[in-house]
Formats: sequence, C-alpha cells, structure tokens
Amino acid sequence: GGIPPFRNDPMIDFTIPEQRAAFPRAIAEVRAAAGGTVPLFIGGKEVFTQDTMPTTNPADPDEKLADVCQAGIAEIDAAIEAAGRAFLIWRDVSPEDRANYLFKAADAARRSAYRLSAWQILEVGKQWDQAYHDVGEGIDFMEYYAREMLRLGRPRRMGRAPGEHNHLFYQPKGIAAVISPWNFPFAISIGMASAAIVTGNPVIYKPSGIAARIGYNLTEVFREAGLPDGVFNYCPGRSSVMGDYLVEHPAINMICFTGSMEVGLRIQEKAAVVQPGQHHCKRVIAEMGGKNAIIIDDDADLDEAVLQVIYSAFGFQGQKCSACSRVIVLDPIYDRFVKRLVEACNDLKIGPAEDPANYMGPLADASLQKNVGRYIEIAREEGTILVSRDDIPARGCYVPLTVVADITPDSRIAQEEIFGPVLGVMRASTFEEALEIANGTRFALTGGVFSRSPEHLEKARKEFRVGNLYLNKGSTGALVERQAFGGFKLSGVGSKTGGPDYLLQFMDPRVVTENT
Ligand code: NAD
Repeated sequence: GGIPPFRNDPMIDFTIPEQRAAFPRAIAEVRAAAGGTVPLFIGGKEVFTQDTMPTTNPADPDEKLADVCQAGIAEIDAAIEAAGRAFLIWRDVSPEDRANYLFKAADAARRSAYRLSAWQILEVGKQWDQAYHDVGEGIDFMEYYAREMLRLGRPRRMGRAPGEHNHLFYQPKGIAAVISPWNFPFAISIGMASAAIVTGNPVIYKPSGIAARIGYNLTEVFREAGLPDGVFNYCPGRSSVMGDYLVEHPAINMICFTGSMEVGLRIQEKAAVVQPGQHHCKRVIAEMGGKNAIIIDDDADLDEAVLQVIYSAFGFQGQKCSACSRVIVLDPIYDRFVKRLVEACNDLKIGPAEDPANYMGPLADASLQKNVGRYIEIAREEGTILVSRDDIPARGCYVPLTVVADITPDSRIAQEEIFGPVLGVMRASTFEEALEIANGTRFALTGGVFSRSPEHLEKARKEFRVGNLYLNKGSTGALVERQAFGGFKLSGVGSKTGGPDYLLQFMDPRVVTENT
C-alpha cells in the first residue's frame, strides 16, 4: 500500500522559464566539476588505476571532461569477488526492501535531473530536451521495475488440490554483467542495472568508453540511495582487455547487453561455452541494432509525416536504435513527399547541442564520425544524393546530414545499420510492396506507417513484423510501460524493456510443494 501507480516522468517544458534557465546553469556546473580522474567503484570503494582513458566533448574534442580509470583483469576479478560476497546477502533481502532502494535512487536522479542531462549534452552531444528525456526514461525504469518486483515478489499459490500447498516464487540468478551502449547512456544503463539489482542480482557494470563519465552517474545515484557495498560495481574498461574475460568468467550468471549486432552475437557465442568450474548456463539478454523503415502511404498527412520522419531520422543525429533510416514512399505521393522532405532538411540548423537553437549536433565520437563518413561515400556510389548538408562546423565530430534516393532494397545503404544522419528514400508501387521492402532486412526493431486507410493500417498491424510499430507516429521515443521496447530477428533476444515480462529474465522460478 501507499505506492501510487506507475506514471511516466513529465517531459521537459521549455515554455516554463525556470526549466529553460536550469540548463545553462547545469551545464556550467558540470563544466566546473569536469576534468578530474574518475575512479572505479568496487565493493563500495573507489579504486584508482594506472590505466586511464580520456573522455571529451564531441563538439570540441579539446574539451576533456574526465580521465576515466580502466578496469583490467585484476579489477574485474575484484569486482566479481565483491559481487559474489554481496550476493549471499542481497538475494535474501526482501523484494520490498530492494524496491525501496530503487525508489530512493529514482528520487536521487530526479533531484539531479538537470545535472545528469548536462553530462549528456557535454559528453555525447545530446540536445537539451533529448538529454532530459533520457534521464526521465532512466527514472521511469527504476520506478517501473520497483513496482514490477513488488508484483512478482508476492507469493503465488498454484492449483487448488486439497491437502497440498504449492508455492511458486522467483530467485535471482547470480552476478550480472551489464554492458551498455553510449547512445542512451543513462537510461539504458540504469534500466538494465536496476532490473538486475531489484531482482536480487549484484551488478558489474561496464559502460561504453564514449559515455564512461555519464556511466559514473549511476555510481553517484546508487551511492546516494545507500545501496549496500558490492551490489553495484562500476567497471569501465577497454573491451579488448576485459570484454571477453568478463563474459567468459565462470562466476558470471547473466549478461545483460545492449549494443551492436556484431558485439551482441560475439557475446552470445562466448557465453554459451560452459567454463571449467561453472555449474550453470549463462543467460544472455542482447538488445541489438535496427534498420527501421517508415512507410508513407499515398493518402498520408504530409505535414505530420515530413515532421515525424525528420525527427525519427535526425533526432540525436540518427544515433538511436529506433531511428528511421529508410523511408518507403508510395508512387503517387513520391514527388510531393520528397520535395517537402528535402526543403525541410535544408532548413535544419546544425551545431553544438549546447545551443538549443540547433536541431542536429555532432556524432558522439570521432570513431563514429569516420564510420558514418564511409557510409556517406557508399551512399554516393549506390544512389542519388538529394541532401548533403556540408555547412557544418569544421571542428567537432560532425558529418553532413544526408538524404539519398534511388537505392535498391538490397543495397548496403538499405540493409546495414548506419547509426548516423543518413536517410535512404525508396519508392514502392503498392502498399504490399512497401511492406515487403520494410520487412526485407535482418532486423526487426521499429517501424512506422503514415496512412489514412483503415485497411492499410490493419494490414500493417499484422504484416509489418517489427518489435515496435507506430501508426501515424514517428518511430522513436518509446516510453516505459506505454511502449515497452525491443525487437527480434537480429535486433536481439530478450523480452521488452519497460514491459511486464522483463524482470522474469533475471530470475529462476522455484516451486515448493507441501503435503498438508
Ligand atoms: P557496441 O556494440 O559497439 O558497444 C556496446 C557495448 O559493448 C560497449 O560498452 C562496448 O564497450 C562493449 N563491448 C564491445 N566489445 C565487447 C566485447 N568483446 N565484450 C564485451 N563487451 C564489449 O555498441 P554502441 O556503439 O555502444 O551502441 C550502438 C549500438 O547499440 C547500435 O547498434 C544500436 O542499434 C544498438 N542499440 C540497441 C538498442 C536496443 O534496445 N535494441 C538500444 C540502444 C542501442
């Protein structure tokens, strides 16, 4: 009792002067705090290492935000030992008490929401509103999973046989390695970590090097919540040094990964091998990439469609797993849609995320800039460039916003996840053909349809086979509970984050039968 039903964290409202004014203040505050050395956090203690890695502002790579200590084999061993010790106590802490730690951590994150947003604006180049939404999503995950654990933690009587009492309950699996991407650096990290923690599994958390300082925000939030030592361990490190070691370690019980298909498949393969001394199968949750399409039907509302396609394709520079990277347009409306799309793309303002006037900013890191740059060359070879915004700042990790047409459904631009501001436009002569093109990749994460035809929308419900489908709405911005999120095919294994099945993956069910 006493816990109100789950509600999504309110969105930022820039018409409220205090909310607008809070950002420059928080950015200045974070900037003043930046520049130091960030330790690991193992067994409740800060651990400094010889090896450190700098993290910088992608809009100005000369601005160093921190030197982040790097876990090697020895530190991973220490973290696994600390987590193993914590597990013996944490697994028997009641679901209510575990949920309370999440409620406290959510409160801590709410109190620091602007500061947490500012770290994202500076470390990964996320726009103000999107950074704030990322933090809000992280808070939502904690609030939602805490309530889910209360639901699943209630004892459950099975069957009605007289003279027999059957009791089903869940126990945690053990030590969880949480390996996260840089693109939703707070939300996805704290979502995976808090799900593991609330179900009773201590966490070894490896953030992406590109967002390692934001990763430290989790340490701050969990410390403020008073989480017992060893339940959460912050272990950034070079994946070439400790990635396989962590995944293959016999004491790891589960790996909770979000990232690229390539790394996700490697982790599944390594984790499938039972190591000497290992007495369990490792569970792998792997949320991977997408190649998402939006279909524009011949009767679509173009005012809506153009706006939403642009936001889905170029919001946060197209660096979302849910981003629209293919737009499939029905023949009769093709010229009209493309003309308006091109005009709108040429109007977008590009520059540092720190300035809220800019719609699009830099990519999160120089390595990504190089990789997306290569895809832009491929786009030139495979299709006709409709938009190439090379009026971008010379300094920083920018790439030209690119729209390419006349690509075939089997071209690399139409098949491979680019993860940047590159949108492919394709033509279809019927709605059926559009669906076929949309479904014709290895991925099945998100998709969208703009149409006024009830018949076509119904057809899309059934035949547009993706994890999250949006009808007359863009393909990004899923909310916890309302749009529980995740895909299938090579977009990943695991049930939807922010949904009612998610926590079950972190536990093993037991049944005790008593003859009475
Ligand atoms: P990535 O696969 O390069 O890295 C993800 C994490 O894995 C990082 O922490 C990285 O250091 C680590 N890693 C790399 N090699 C490893 C190894 N051998 N062993 C253990 N860990 C290793 O992905 P990224 O560039 O950080 O993120 C972008 C990708 O994530 C895109 O493909 C995007 O679609 C995907 N993504 C998917 C979802 C989803 O919900 N399905 C959400 C966000 C991002």
